[in-house]
Amino acid sequence: MHFSRPEADIFVPAGGDAATALARTTHLCVIAHQDDIEINAWPAVAACYGRTDRFFTGVVVTNGAGSPRTGPYANYTDDQMKLVRVEEQREAARIGKYNLQLQLAHPSADVKRPGHPGVLADLKAIFSACRPEIVYLHQPLDKHDTHVGVMLRSLEAIRALPKAQRPKRVLGVEAWRGLDWLLDDEKVPMDCGDNTELALRLIQVFKSQVVGGKRYDIASIGRRQSNATFHASHATDTFTQVAWALDLTPLVQDETLSIKDFALDRVDRLRADTANRLSKLT
Ligand SMILES: [Zn+2]
Repeated sequence: MHFSRPEADIFVPAGGDAATALARTTHLCVIAHQDDIEINAWPAVAACYGRTDRFFTGVVVTNGAGSPRTGPYANYTDDQMKLVRVEEQREAARIGKYNLQLQLAHPSADVKRPGHPGVLADLKAIFSACRPEIVYLHQPLDKHDTHVGVMLRSLEAIRALPKAQRPKRVLGVEAWRGLDWLLDDEKVPMDCGDNTELALRLIQVFKSQVVGGKRYDIASIGRRQSNATFHASHATDTFTQVAWALDLTPLVQDETLSIKDFALDRVDRLRADTANRLSKLT
């Protein structure tokens, strides 16, 4: 297995051949930064943890160079920070018993460029070497440019595959913008399970991110609990913790579908719902 950046990191926590590990992937997450899997795609990890019939592969596309740093990391150079973040991600993969962890080490600027050859080559190689049941990406209404860039490059790579080889189900996960505002019939609930201890541990591994006072660990659990409780005003909670996703499958089945139109349709539906309610009650 070979990727375009020399510093790309390939890690099979249980040992063994990476290509074999990639081929058996059932749950694939392709995401921007170290810690995005654990904060935003935890249900995918939980679905595979401790299972012998499911295999979670995580792909972190960027190199972590631009991450904020405080406390003991305040004086770290970008290169030192990259090394810290690669090791943190490996530690999460060990603790979470991931099948395979890939870190492609692309600069953030490259993933924001449509059709970037190195990014696309790596993503095409990954998507064509496995047949996951479900793929987790960022979602198009996220407010972080790098997240949206990684999602767009991933869709470009998937759309380049013959239709029969494309994943059957693709979900966009909430991150820098929750999906609580989507109309209920558009929300895909992802059960977060009951292993909160592991969920917290996996985020706390990223000391370089949590240490400056950004309590992603507490905030992530809080968002999941909040999603569950505030989902329906009259029903009792079906889940104690849930993460919302947007179903992106139509975008990979039909490559002529505009991603921008698809995203704006979600906003238009919210707008219509708001207008209807206010018209009805005033
Ligand atoms: Zn991120």
